[in-house]
Amino acid sequence: MGLLSVIVPCLNEQENIFDFYNELMKNEPFFKGQGVDFELIFVDDGSTDDTAARVKELKQKDSRVRLVSFSRNFGKEAAMFAGLQSSKGDYVAIMDCDLQDPPALLPEMYKAITEEGYDSVATRRVNRKGEPPIRSFFARKFYKLINKMTKTEIVDGARDYRLMNRKFVDAILAMEEYNRFSKGIFGWVGFKNKWLEFENIERKKGETKWSFWKLFAYAIDGILAFSTAPLAMASFLGVFFCLVAFIFIIAIIIRQWTVGDPHGAVGWASMACIILFVSGVQLLCVGVVGQYLSKTYLEVKKRPLYIVKEEL
Ligand code: UDP
Ligand code: MG
Repeated sequence: MGLLSVIVPCLNEQENIFDFYNELMKNEPFFKGQGVDFELIFVDDGSTDDTAARVKELKQKDSRVRLVSFSRNFGKEAAMFAGLQSSKGDYVAIMDCDLQDPPALLPEMYKAITEEGYDSVATRRVNRKGEPPIRSFFARKFYKLINKMTKTEIVDGARDYRLMNRKFVDAILAMEEYNRFSKGIFGWVGFKNKWLEFENIERKKGETKWSFWKLFAYAIDGILAFSTAPLAMASFLGVFFCLVAFIFIIAIIIRQWTVGDPHGAVGWASMACIILFVSGVQLLCVGVVGQYLSKTYLEVKKRPLYIVKEEL
């Protein structure tokens, strides 16, 4: 018998646990036919509602259900990593609890791995139907920008919903970085990857855990984790302003030798503008360096990515 681990990160998803389970189990006949059994790992990411209680209830009915509860909210990235670490399956799927990742795609994903020789099957939504337009706008701009800044391919609309074989999972687990940006990590490890596309499905129950600013911070984390282009940009600005300064110095010296300065020291306003502008650029560049430094600081501390409160 083969084993398929399904990892489900959950934060306050009490209304969705049973719906998700029922929907997932519609695939059971197919996987039985393939000689594959399920292992369901719910990672409770510090929920403050009855998520853990619901999962325990489910475990009473189905012993293949497992629960990993965090001591507090550590974020979806940590939850996915914890799920991957405790998974034992030959195949591992990661999916959201809110049914925005349709479980009905699993058989097709499974076939791509077992029959077509792929190591991982990822999904992307082809539209952003039902999402606030301003969020879609910034999301598109973010993907354009980050793909200019890094060699790792980061696909617009990619979901974390993915089926992987053991080899692929082990590669992901070997990346123990603290600042985890899965959308980049999945691409970075390589292997043979297939993309499946589907229409965006809106969340039916509960609400999204991502505010605009949370997403914005996540986007910055992504850039810091997969690109050093901002640092190169800071150096470039430095060289550029040195050149401008050099040209100005030459021009001023020539003017002094030829016409002199008949009006005395005027031009303080433009001087003030130049000083303000250049010091602004300097602070910006120091800020960029500071961002990388703060990430490095967190990496060297080697804090655990999550702390488990209860495991069943
Ligand atoms: N989630 C989590 N920890 C968090 C935020 C979200 O485990 O800190 C889970 C959440 O319960 C859901 C999945 O990650 O199963 C995706 O979250 P959500 O549906 O809120 O994101 P969206 O689909 O709106 O991008
Ligand atoms: Mg969702």
